[in-house]
Amino acid sequence: MAYFIDVILPIPLDKEFTYSINKNEASFLKPGMRVAVQFGKSKVYAALVTKTHQTPPQVYEAKEIEHILDETPIVTTNQLELWSWISKYYMCSKGEVMRAALPSAFLLESETIILRNDKELVDENLLKDDEFLLHEALQHQSLLRIQEVMDIVGKKSVLPLIKRLIEKQVITVQEEIYEQYKPKLVRYVRLQSEYTSEVGLQSLLDSLTRAPKQRDVLMHLFMLQAKSEKAIMVSELIKAANSNAGVIKTLIDKNILEEYHKQTDRVQYEGSSFTVTKELNTYQEQALKEIKEHLVEKDVCLFHGVTSSGKTEVYVKLIEEQVQKGKQVLYLLPEIALTTQLITRLQEYFGEKLSVYHSKYSVNERVEAWNNVKDSKSKAQIVIGARSSIFLPFINLGLIIIDEEHESSFKQYDPAPRYHARDTAVVLANMFKAKVVLGSATPALESYYNAEQGKYGLVELTRRYGNVLMPDINLVDLKTKYKRKEMTGHFSDTLLLAIQNALKEEEQVILFQNRRGYSPVVECNTCGHSPQCPNCDVSLTYHNYRNQLRCHYCGYHIAMLQKCMACDSHELSTKGFGTEQIENELKELFPDHTIGRMDQDTTRGKHGYEKIITKFEEGGINILVGTQMLTKGLDFRNVTLVGIMNADNLLNFPDFRAHERSFQLMLQVAGRAGRTSKRGKVLIQTYNPFHQILQQVSINDYTGMYKDQIEERYQYKYPPFYRIIKITGRHKDYNKVNEATLWLAKSLAMTFKENVLGPEFPPISRIRNQYNKNILIKIPNGQSLNRTKEVIKRIENSFKSIKEFSGVRIIINVDNY
Ligand code: ADP
Ligand code: ZN
Ligand code: ZN
Repeated sequence: MAYFIDVILPIPLDKEFTYSINKNEASFLKPGMRVAVQFGKSKVYAALVTKTHQTPPQVYEAKEIEHILDETPIVTTNQLELWSWISKYYMCSKGEVMRAALPSAFLLESETIILRNDKELVDENLLKDDEFLLHEALQHQSLLRIQEVMDIVGKKSVLPLIKRLIEKQVITVQEEIYEQYKPKLVRYVRLQSEYTSEVGLQSLLDSLTRAPKQRDVLMHLFMLQAKSEKAIMVSELIKAANSNAGVIKTLIDKNILEEYHKQTDRVQYEGSSFTVTKELNTYQEQALKEIKEHLVEKDVCLFHGVTSSGKTEVYVKLIEEQVQKGKQVLYLLPEIALTTQLITRLQEYFGEKLSVYHSKYSVNERVEAWNNVKDSKSKAQIVIGARSSIFLPFINLGLIIIDEEHESSFKQYDPAPRYHARDTAVVLANMFKAKVVLGSATPALESYYNAEQGKYGLVELTRRYGNVLMPDINLVDLKTKYKRKEMTGHFSDTLLLAIQNALKEEEQVILFQNRRGYSPVVECNTCGHSPQCPNCDVSLTYHNYRNQLRCHYCGYHIAMLQKCMACDSHELSTKGFGTEQIENELKELFPDHTIGRMDQDTTRGKHGYEKIITKFEEGGINILVGTQMLTKGLDFRNVTLVGIMNADNLLNFPDFRAHERSFQLMLQVAGRAGRTSKRGKVLIQTYNPFHQILQQVSINDYTGMYKDQIEERYQYKYPPFYRIIKITGRHKDYNKVNEATLWLAKSLAMTFKENVLGPEFPPISRIRNQYNKNILIKIPNGQSLNRTKEVIKRIENSFKSIKEFSGVRIIINVDNY
């Protein structure tokens, strides 16, 4: 009898692959375990088993697997099902989903780069021969690739060795964004089994009469063991016997002691006292009751509560209820809203039941959270995390909360899988018959539409907590202000006066500007030339502090020019302004106050963001200037004034969501003002004070905005009435992209007719020397989504067989929100 497994490889190929195994392996292997396999001529991967069976593959001969890497599944069958759904729905391979889903320490493969783990001291005597070889090689070389490891140890199958060394903390794997894997392993010792009997023990002690130190260690080991049943840590033994690592090592070498490791958890909550959760006010109480009622019948409830209405406290009650039932809870937030502010607040209520799953956390922390969730440990009963936490191996999920559900960062743009975490979460919840609460002060049109249609429950909370008034929002007409010469730099007299008043009262101010840097365009006064990025179709942004011109798309930078590149004129001026310029102006205008800036340039590093927030919270900053980053979920007590420096560049963005997005963004920033007793003030500077969206923002008219926008969406055939699939062609050759996308659009139009739009270049068509051109396919409600995707796949396949288009990448983005 022949036995086979199907596996997922972490590659962008659409199908699963079959490998052959023996009978024993067949009875041992279960879906969700990893096996080391060879793929192609020389590649090795840790592949994930999806099923065992007895049908040989038809078109190729199945290779044997090299090794089994796991004793138990690391991925649940529910997860495999979710991966399948994602790969089908978002039109990508399961391997791509696997890559996004697994913490990188689980993803071993030929390309994995192995590094020495400098953070841990290695006891070389504890290494097996092959482990030692690799360890030694890493003393001379800073990194090794899998092929080199194979050469060093003289065999092909090295993934198990690498896995062992990772667990022993001798090596780590390189990661692009994350820190390195470092499970905290603790060393334990016990007596080898032959000495555990009384006779064996006596003769052992007799044989050691001339080695008093070793004898002493053994005596202490007995004593420790007698005192408690638990395992004995090496460190504990050394301390008790007043001995040292050398003696222990000798005993291990002599096969008297046996050494073993156990993993401890580093995701630990330090605090001990729990705070009881807050008592809700009547409005919150009512909202909570309604949410629960909706969730009896419906799977999803939209919770539309204005900023500072106390939504979080309502979530807390919902979480509490699940925790009492022993269910797991997932609390999803956009990356930038995941602040210590919120985490600390939740930790006070839930203590160590709360785990954080977030890219800023190290891999080891993420691996531990993963394992805790999979083992349904109480310390990971509540997980708070950004979009990738939908990939955790939940066992008995009861509730998913999606806070700031309107946020576009829930959608992954690049690379595949281009999934939307909110929509995927609804599917995930469904697998567990769990409920979903979507919360926002400015819901996505799609969500509100779903609620209106009765698909989701809808609960509204229109009052701020503590009867604090909604901020007073006013528009400032820049055209008039400039005409009347009432501007100082980029500040209208109205805004300046408001800042002065706030500062006088020792209150804090937030100023929002959507661009970073000093100024996005540098222009020659003589010939009009402005320096462009050589790799992208954008002008270079001037950064005053570093005296550089930088591209915000590819990172290209040069020193600020002394004279024009085209005509050598020295008369260069800047156009437009970013956060840095505002910061500089403020420093001149308010020399006696502290100005802070929060944007990508000032928040690099693991804690950059937190540092600024903390400083602001503690009053160390009077005026904080920033981009989007300061809009989300922050709760500052002392901010009474929020200024939006220029609303127009938000509104003029060429995207069918631009108006919805500007509305959301402005109301969210405005929501940072006046969260305590005093009514907050918001000033929005604009050249278009009569713009409908600005009018709606100024009176906090979500419903008005919704009605207008949904009408437009209907008219112009956009979501939620039509689904959208965006297809992008990408290549470094302009003409090739043109021809390729034209061919695609024509082929698609044969089936989808007028519902194919484009091809069209996006506003920035070249990024990193690659041209992009887009085609939109609009899918009306009645049209089968699956059939549509099949057609697209078919056309993509024919496309790939056309020689002249070889090398053109096709990127498919489903629900391009
Ligand atoms: P939202 O999430 O709706 O913006 P928050 O949950 O952050 O609002 O609440 C705003 C502020 O009001 C927070 O400082 C919070 O601690 C406080 N708050 C909300 N509900 C209560 C309550 N029931 N009792 C005491 N304080 C509350
Ligand atoms: Zn010039
Ligand atoms: Zn560039």
